[in-house]
Amino acid sequence: MYIKTGVADQELVVNTLPSDERRKKGPYVFIECYQEIPCDPCTKICPFGSILPMDDINDLPRTDYDTCTGCTICAAICPGLAIFIIDETYSETEGTVTIPYEFAPLPAKGDIVEAMNRAGEVIGEAEVLRVNPNKRRQSTALVTLIVPKDKVMEVRFLRPKKDEADRLPKADPNSEENLPDSTVICRCENVTLGEIRALIDEGYDNVDEIKRISRAGMGPCQGRTCRPLIMGEINRRTGKAYDDIELGFFRPPTKPIQFEQFLGGEEDDN
Ligand code: SF4
Ligand code: SF4
Repeated sequence: MYIKTGVADQELVVNTLPSDERRKKGPYVFIECYQEIPCDPCTKICPFGSILPMDDINDLPRTDYDTCTGCTICAAICPGLAIFIIDETYSETEGTVTIPYEFAPLPAKGDIVEAMNRAGEVIGEAEVLRVNPNKRRQSTALVTLIVPKDKVMEVRFLRPKKDEADRLPKADPNSEENLPDSTVICRCENVTLGEIRALIDEGYDNVDEIKRISRAGMGPCQGRTCRPLIMGEINRRTGKAYDDIELGFFRPPTKPIQFEQFLGGEEDDN
């Protein structure tokens, strides 16, 4: 099911849960990384070795819940935004969920926001307990929500309530100060916006040229994320219309899928 919808089902979630005893002891990491992808920074960053070393970079991360302190360091560096910190001991009836959040503006402590599940459906409201912008580490901001205890394994995202969203200052997408040079544009090849800007200022104004020099778009996702971002930056810096910016050359797969899907689906053993 997960491979078709991209939404983790209860079976996947339950299989990776810590024991009931550990859940009662305090905050713990909960990793929702269910696809074998070439990625492993979480295994290297944990100061307690609680995310176990991988034999192969495509392995799924495994957690030693007994040594994890719920410090949140790993959640802020995971490029897939797949790591959450859960605390089921916040109060008699409530727990907290710490969520990686990459939208601007960040919510503030005390805000009431809409709490969403893995499928992006609103399942209630939640109060923001803590916001860590993580600016010093230049890593992903973390927002901690207070949620009813029976929702800690459901709430995985948030958005400002509609009336509050209307009151918040709007981030101007054309304002360069909203996007610092350190912003990573291509996660696969770790190329920053500053590098892309420098190339555009040198005169490179199409996606292919920038890709060949910087490697942005050459990773496993083949530019699905960075291509439109680079086009937007070319548009802003040169004034070139989107229609005039060459899209560039890219190869399949435009979306990686498993061979079994070509061969008749998961249930077909042949
Ligand atoms: S929350 Fe902290 S202690 Fe737990 S796995 Fe992540 S980095 Fe390690
Ligand atoms: S860093 Fe995040 S995406 Fe990468 S393997 Fe670890 S949990 Fe998965």
